[in-house]
Amino acid sequence: MSHTPSILIIGAGFAGLGLALELRRAGIESFTILEKAGDLGGVWRENTYPGAACDVPSPLYSWSFEPKSDWPRRFSLQHDIHEYMRSIAEKYRLPSKIRFGTEVTDAEFDERHGVWQVRTADGATLTTDILVSAVGQLSRPAMPNLPGLDTFTGPSFHSAEWDHSVDLTGKRVACIGTGASAIQYIPQIAPGVGHLTLFQRSAAWVLPKPDTEYTPVHHALFKYVPPTRLAERFLIWATFDLLALALTDVPWLKYPVIALADHHRAKQVPDEELRRKLTPDYAAGCKRGLFSNDYFPALTRPNVTVETTAIEAITPTGIRTGDGLEHEVDVIIFGTGFKGTEFLAPMNIYGRGGRKLSDEWSPEGARAYLGISVPDFPNLFLMYGPNTNVGSGSIIYMLESQARYIRQAARYLADRPGRSVAARATAEQSWDDWLQRRLQDTPWNFCSSWYRNASGRITNNWPGATILFRWKTRRFDPADYDESTPEPH
Ligand code: NAP
Repeated sequence: MSHTPSILIIGAGFAGLGLALELRRAGIESFTILEKAGDLGGVWRENTYPGAACDVPSPLYSWSFEPKSDWPRRFSLQHDIHEYMRSIAEKYRLPSKIRFGTEVTDAEFDERHGVWQVRTADGATLTTDILVSAVGQLSRPAMPNLPGLDTFTGPSFHSAEWDHSVDLTGKRVACIGTGASAIQYIPQIAPGVGHLTLFQRSAAWVLPKPDTEYTPVHHALFKYVPPTRLAERFLIWATFDLLALALTDVPWLKYPVIALADHHRAKQVPDEELRRKLTPDYAAGCKRGLFSNDYFPALTRPNVTVETTAIEAITPTGIRTGDGLEHEVDVIIFGTGFKGTEFLAPMNIYGRGGRKLSDEWSPEGARAYLGISVPDFPNLFLMYGPNTNVGSGSIIYMLESQARYIRQAARYLADRPGRSVAARATAEQSWDDWLQRRLQDTPWNFCSSWYRNASGRITNNWPGATILFRWKTRRFDPADYDESTPEPH
């Protein structure tokens, strides 16, 4: 007997939509997406800062089965990516499957009935056979823990909550942070502000960005000669997977990359003192490597200062550094990243025996079999779960692997009505042992970043090429799962 289980997906970003597309393409219709916001898009809806773009080229940063021939450029801007997500969602009639403005607060596995009870912020309770978290790793902005944070009297905002009503023209602006977000908006705002002070705690490893505008000739070629489009996607994928190997299996591959970054900096930053400040003092690859052609030139502008003395406090009028200097500014922009290691927070998830997921993961940090399934949390599947972020590559490729796997699990459960599956503790343990062995020698151990939690465990990154993850997740194997049926009443 086959009874397609009901599936609730939390989040309508690339992960949630990707799973919905996978299910719909397989003819599985029994799913609903719950989205707390009023629109789909996840991080591509939220991050609207000037210059917001993807540093993975669009031919790869797109669904493999929905290629787009007419991307305006190779590295797309946020608006174009968001539009792409919207148009594909429309094409597959997904909006009618999304309940917007519905924020999940708690979910509890009901062992008597073998279903999940999912509670939402508006007080409703929904019941589902399968629960999928697709809330991403970068949806919750992190503010630095600095004294006086709330005392600043001028406008201040996080990069992911850009306040477009604040006119930066002619203003003294403080930018805190030098990550992937900051290096995109600093070149955009620097020409218009009065003075920009960049408070840098760590210098970034920056590579040239091989960006290009796609012309009508490109668009026609990609549309009418698909092998050209496929060749570009393949080349980009192979390059990124090679870079991923430089972080893991083939460390010597990093030397040409380091040489390229050094050359890029030397070419773009003629001033020796500034170049010294902008030279990273930690292992390449430890934090995310960045691509930019306009970040260093922006920092050489006469109206830009790079301040490397640590911030001591935020004051009502600006920022005080450790050397006692007061930097008076009109606006503060926090490019200070996200709470990436707090998977699924702030939702409370309770599995078998009332176990709380955040307690299970405390104090060491989040872990899951294949990054997808957690022992004692039956029929809970994670998209973009622990150790599935890529140091190099397209997250969409990784999400497609997860979606295929979860679709197979749903099919398996469809043939076994009432059953639930949770990763076997032994399977999860040997998976984690294997992961930890591979993570041991990666550069991610040698600095602090959002890839690691306070205990030092690397909870976010996948240690290998994306194709290895695809191989590991190619088949849902019931032997790796404990099965249960509802308890008799
Ligand atoms: P991030 O990479 O976590 O960077 C946060 C920055 O804030 C770091 O430079 C950090 O310094 C600094 N910082 C934090 N607290 C500070 C303090 N108290 N004082 C001084 N500096 C402080 O955040 P992000 O730039 O938003 O990027 C997060 C992730 O989002 C990226 O790694 C990437 O995966 C994703 N992203 C992707 C794209 C894309 O193009 N695909 C674009 C933007 C973001 P330390 O390094 O010293 O900790």
